[in-house]
Amino acid sequence: SAETGLPLTFMDTLIDMRNLPGGLPFSKDAHPSQAGAARQCCAAKAYDFRMRLLIVEDDASLASGLRRMLEAEGHAVDVTARGEDAVSAASQERFDLVILDIGLPRMDGFEVLRRLRGAAAAGGAPLPVLVLTARDAVEDRVRGLDLGADDYMVKPFAMPELTARVRALLRRSQAHGGPRIVHGPLTL
Ligand code: CA
Repeated sequence: SAETGLPLTFMDTLIDMRNLPGGLPFSKDAHPSQAGAARQCCAAKAYDFRMRLLIVEDDASLASGLRRMLEAEGHAVDVTARGEDAVSAASQERFDLVILDIGLPRMDGFEVLRRLRGAAAAGGAPLPVLVLTARDAVEDRVRGLDLGADDYMVKPFAMPELTARVRALLRRSQAHGGPRIVHGPLTL
């Protein structure tokens, strides 16, 4: 199945481990030039520094599948099931990207997004947000994007597409953000 689910996650994780620079060796029957091309291809996936991601998702098995996938991409990943915890974590610590579910137990994802964007407008660092939700109505997508989401994916989704979108968002924010030096309260 091309849809997300834990069976696919495991296969994707294996694929990602094989593709990691310095990861598992290529199969012994691979032609050396193919292996070289694959290394070259995937070296482009690497980032200048390790990214810190926050997953806000109350489906525990989906959250752990996402965490494994994104850790296999080399990121540091925090997970919370509660919107209010996500808002407080983002106000206290620096994240490079948030993956945000909309249907959450108390504070929903739209409200989380509104608060994150309010904090950014008040001078906080820009924070890319990828909304990930089962709500596929056009008005929900429009609302999410208008509240400041950078991307919007509807469940069920294919894990390789999610990780590709995460890479695209991180590339974009890195290109616009430039080098970052953090010293105490100062970010240059
Ligand atoms: Ca949910």
